[in-house]
Amino acid sequence: MGISENPSGVGRPDYEVAIVGTGFGGLCIALKLREDGEQNFVLIERGDSVGGTWRDNSYPGAACDVPSHLYSFSFAPKTDWSRKYPVQPELHAYLRDIAERHELLPKVRFSTTFEGADYDEVHQLWHIRISRQGVVSQLSARSLVLANGGLAEPKLPEIAGIERFAGKTFHSSRWDHDYELAGKRVAVIGTGASAIQFVPEIAPKVARLDVYQRTPNWIIPRPDRAYSQAEKSRFARWPLWRKLYRAMIYWGHEARVFGFVVQPAFMKLFQKVAEFHINRQVVDPTLKRKVTPGYLIGCKRILISNDWYPALGRRNVDLVDAPIAEIREHSIVTADGQEREVDCLIFGTGFYATDNPIGAVVRGRGGRSLAQEWSGGEEAYLGTLVKGFPNLFLIVGPNTGVGHTSMVYIIESQVSLIRRLLAKLRGKAQALEIKAAVQDGFNHALQQRLETSAWSTGCNSWYKHRSGKITALWPGFTFSFRRQIEAVGDGDYTLQTAPTKSLAN
Ligand code: NAP
Repeated sequence: MGISENPSGVGRPDYEVAIVGTGFGGLCIALKLREDGEQNFVLIERGDSVGGTWRDNSYPGAACDVPSHLYSFSFAPKTDWSRKYPVQPELHAYLRDIAERHELLPKVRFSTTFEGADYDEVHQLWHIRISRQGVVSQLSARSLVLANGGLAEPKLPEIAGIERFAGKTFHSSRWDHDYELAGKRVAVIGTGASAIQFVPEIAPKVARLDVYQRTPNWIIPRPDRAYSQAEKSRFARWPLWRKLYRAMIYWGHEARVFGFVVQPAFMKLFQKVAEFHINRQVVDPTLKRKVTPGYLIGCKRILISNDWYPALGRRNVDLVDAPIAEIREHSIVTADGQEREVDCLIFGTGFYATDNPIGAVVRGRGGRSLAQEWSGGEEAYLGTLVKGFPNLFLIVGPNTGVGHTSMVYIIESQVSLIRRLLAKLRGKAQALEIKAAVQDGFNHALQQRLETSAWSTGCNSWYKHRSGKITALWPGFTFSFRRQIEAVGDGDYTLQTAPTKSLAN
């Protein structure tokens, strides 16, 4: 596939829109494009089913920290969520069901990897490289939507000797369900949101579990419970009640922004809750010392769990807080000289959140890659548009992350903007690009707000680019994000109707 020339000399692409990823973001934009009457789009998916992060993260105990009634599309409610906090299999099923009901599956190229894309300034479209079973091919699209996810590329730690390890290894987001953990000596590196969910699940099965902690996290209780049949029936019978319930969750979570952004000192109240949680669940003074963070709550992501501390207190579990010095063929050696034997090493070490490898293979004007554009830290306009990259739309792009509420609200906001802009490209226009001054002004103000937030109070976190700049988070209420999205006007971007002469020659 390639491009064909129409009478005006302007290239006609294979597709109007190519979408990378079929998680919440990819499915949302695909659904809305359908609603807008657009049929000429394709979804590129490296996995063999839809679901994005909720397909990949199938580790034992995987669940979401945002209540199910809010962590779902506003336009596709589900009245029979089994629990207050949705578990991974239920979320995956929810997304699969949406894709099936809206007949999106025929639009998806499964088991197909997005290898990269180059913007063609002459024909004003994207040339996209994909591969399937090692065979590389090309397609073209007027617009490219990257809905590949902010937490999709597993990050492995750089530790001396790691390549020598001869036992079993896997990352939390690539869990090997065929590997039998029972009776094994297991080591887990990392104590983030993923590890605190799977460690309590595997601890009772394994012979020994060494959990390697670099930095402790603040953890608050998880107020989870199953919904009763009566509650589910009420949600189904009374849609107004369900909407009100969702709104109550939304506003309850939104109130947390006061502590994160408006007045970080408020976070001290939250910290009291977390300290109380430690005091109630941890008896051993050494363990208490190890798990108590030395920074203000909220600086790193606040975690919620009722079973993490009890798991660490088990006889067969050891929380190791000495830094790892070296990994050997069958053991891990810490800086204090201790060596611990290991059969299986599980990495709960997170993702490439602020330096997604996809940046290196997406090239805009002048062949400049996103990675080059972002060498000092990722930047976009409202996490969606990037100067120098016409007809490129990001879902969950830079500074759209939220630690306090549902990403689905952010995704729906971004999709409302993208479909509005794609409609412009369905007319005479061929290229849409955010103005540099608009993007730069936006980011200047955004970084100023971040400087006084809880996330800047002195800690290392995956919210920060290696330069120290916070590039993952939206510093404010999500309704203010949506308002800014709604305010994007024609003056903010340029629209080109035909290739410029110099480029066409
Ligand atoms: P993460 O929060 O980034 O945690 C990674 C862990 O690995 C941290 O404890 C980190 O320590 C440690 N680590 C990284 N490199 C290391 C090294 N070289 N040596 C020793 N330790 C190392 O990753 P995650 O747990 O996969 O979670 C990522 C994000 O996914 C979450 O923050 C959340 O947004 C999302 N998530 C959400 C849920 C949920 O809703 N319940 C569940 C899972 C994931 P440091 O803290 O010192 O860097």
